[in-house]
Amino acid sequence: MFPFLVLGTLSSIIVLSLTLFYKMQRLKELNAKVAALKFSLEEMDEQAKLIMRTDIELNKTQEELDKKISGLDSLQKLSHEINTTLEEKQIFNKIDNKYLEQLGFEKAMAFLWKSFERELRLYLNIGYNQDESEKIKTEINLKKDYFLDLIENGLIASSVSSPEGFLAKDKINSLFQVNSFIICPVLTQEGDKGFIVVGTQNTETPLTKGDQELISILCNQIAQTLDNARLFEKTWKSQQELEMKVEERTHQLTSALDEVQKMSKRKSDFISSVSHELRTPLTSIKGYAAILLAGSLGNLPDEIKTKLEKINRHSDELVHMINDLLDIARIESGKVDMKLENLDLKAITEKIFDLLTPQAATKNISFGSNIPDNCQIIQADRSQIERVFINLVGNALKFTPQNGKIGISAHCSNKIIQIDVKDNGFGIPEEAQEHLFEEFYRVDNKINQEVKGTGLGLALIKHIIEAHGGRIWVKSKLGEGSTFSFTLKTA
Ligand code: ADP
Repeated sequence: MFPFLVLGTLSSIIVLSLTLFYKMQRLKELNAKVAALKFSLEEMDEQAKLIMRTDIELNKTQEELDKKISGLDSLQKLSHEINTTLEEKQIFNKIDNKYLEQLGFEKAMAFLWKSFERELRLYLNIGYNQDESEKIKTEINLKKDYFLDLIENGLIASSVSSPEGFLAKDKINSLFQVNSFIICPVLTQEGDKGFIVVGTQNTETPLTKGDQELISILCNQIAQTLDNARLFEKTWKSQQELEMKVEERTHQLTSALDEVQKMSKRKSDFISSVSHELRTPLTSIKGYAAILLAGSLGNLPDEIKTKLEKINRHSDELVHMINDLLDIARIESGKVDMKLENLDLKAITEKIFDLLTPQAATKNISFGSNIPDNCQIIQADRSQIERVFINLVGNALKFTPQNGKIGISAHCSNKIIQIDVKDNGFGIPEEAQEHLFEEFYRVDNKINQEVKGTGLGLALIKHIIEAHGGRIWVKSKLGEGSTFSFTLKTA
């Protein structure tokens, strides 16, 4: 019995020991799990704290961002307002309480340096009464060197980053009766300098770098607008000066033109009366020569007859010249009315060629014409325009050598017809061309010493064409020929 008891007890002890060992193992495992759980909880706690911190940061950033956006929005509106004016005082007047408050300030002042008076003059005052602003202005001008130094160096002073000395935070705060401030320079390319100061008594929301940036943008904007105003002022002034000069010059030119017209009239009147006076004695010279030549006073020796014929011929030339002069004077003074009618250019050309064929035949010169059917009708005074053609073709005959060619051609556009009278004669030197239409001008060359002329033909033609409302000009090359062109109206 005893051995069984011992065995039973032993086996119970073994079972108990094993159970204890197993329990101990479980406890160990549980402890390890608890430790791991604790660690995880601590980590989670840390992360929760981090999330909260980030959330606060984010909110702060969001607030700053909102502030910046609303600041930028106000600044943009204010910039737009400022840009609408070009008058110095008005530029600063555009900054008012409303915009200032939107930017987070309730006080502002602006000063511009007046070099002649050597003072910083007040241009903007928001938030100060008369006495306060006078006091600040005096104080600033007493210490103007500090401010000028700040402006010229383009520096910004503010509660965020304030320099030492007179411009130190506390001193400026007390000068402008604020708790935070920003001073930014206004420097223009045109040489203006000044500064703007904005401030607030608010102590709850401290100023940031962002506020400083916004106000410095505003100052740059004002500087730019001041530059525009100066440029506008300059342009306006020079425009005024220019207008005055133009007016003065117009006045001078009008009087000069008056004078020229008076002189031209005097000249025409003079030519006209002299020509009339010359005509009478010339007629009697011609008359006496004719009587003598007719032999009514007895037969004359051949030598005297030849001389008398010369007198007669020269008298004819003089009459011709006087008539041309009289015509020029009359057309110039508007005494000749151009009787405009529709004329057939082809018919006129043929008539002129017929008239001058004997002259052309002596030099074997050929005529030709090219007048398109669609510009055949000209509006002109028949006898005057025939004179133009006779003169031009006559000149071409005079200044074209043997076997030459003379042509008349035309082309039209927009109811204007251009007629060209072209020859392949001696041509005209370039320097002479601009004088051709002047009265009595003849090219100084060998041909003209041989060929007779008065130098009045082209002057007369020019007057006739201009009285028709047209223009005349020449193109020529020595040795190659000349083309005289003029315009008339077509039907
Ligand atoms: P005039 O023929 O009586 O000299 P004009 O006024 O008709 O006077 O002409 C002025 C000058 O222009 C002429 O002397 C001549 O030198 C030059 N001229 C005119 N027509 C021609 C031409 N077709 N070719 C060359 N020279 C010309």
